[in-house]
Amino acid sequence: MRLANVSGRSTIVTLEGLVDVATASNGAFSASTEKCVHQLAKLQQWFETFQPEPTDPTLPEELFGDPRLGAVISQPSQIFAIGLNYRHHADEMGLAHPSQPMVFTKFSSSLCAPNSNLVLPSDRTDWEAELVVIFAKSGRDISVEDALEYVGGYAVGQDYSERTLQMAGSPAQFSLGKSFQNFAPIGPWLTTPDDAGDPNCLAIGSTVNGETMQDSVTSDMVFSIAELISYISTVVEIRSGDIMFTGSPHGVGQGQNPPRFLRTGDVVETSIERLGTIRNKVVAK
Ligand code: ZN
Repeated sequence: MRLANVSGRSTIVTLEGLVDVATASNGAFSASTEKCVHQLAKLQQWFETFQPEPTDPTLPEELFGDPRLGAVISQPSQIFAIGLNYRHHADEMGLAHPSQPMVFTKFSSSLCAPNSNLVLPSDRTDWEAELVVIFAKSGRDISVEDALEYVGGYAVGQDYSERTLQMAGSPAQFSLGKSFQNFAPIGPWLTTPDDAGDPNCLAIGSTVNGETMQDSVTSDMVFSIAELISYISTVVEIRSGDIMFTGSPHGVGQGQNPPRFLRTGDVVETSIERLGTIRNKVVAK
């Protein structure tokens, strides 16, 4: 199942069209995608049992780049992000593979719609294609074996990064440099695990102005998604509606020779197999 936020309303995206959740369920489920995520298993059961007719003929491919799409989650209690979690990306940054997950946050005011425009805070702003986990269950001390049961679904994300601020300070603290306005687009929708397949076996990539920058697979992760969830949950409670950015593969601008950063007018497209594509245009202030 694919759950989208279309014009602020929870919407199931099907191959035949869009199903407005609140309308089709006669109000049994909320028009808020955030509330739907908290009861995602029930929603999916309802959808599969009743197979409601589309309420809007728009097809999934017609939603590509659509400004009506919003973030599925807008008020997470926590956003986790993981640094240097792809082997080839750590190599291109000239850094050792981490011996334990490197966890930081993107502050929640950076979260935005999948096709949001981006205003550059500096001339050293970089792209990072990332698989995003959306949690639909809360817990602590979760085992690696049980970890994926806490996942409501997956989405495509960008971990936009202002490299100067990210690396300032000794030791560097990543979070502020990754939290400027619209630095955390997610979407185009939430794809439930049954439709996503193995999350550590998906092609992931990004282009800038149509030129391939990142082209990898999530199996290059140093720590698997299940290992990340288990590790974080030994310290903090993971809550339904929380989000986790799981690290970026190689091919970021900083890793190019010479380094390349975003410029006004650039268009970044980020895609993950089975999950879709998001598009961000860099615009002038
Ligand atoms: Zn990242």
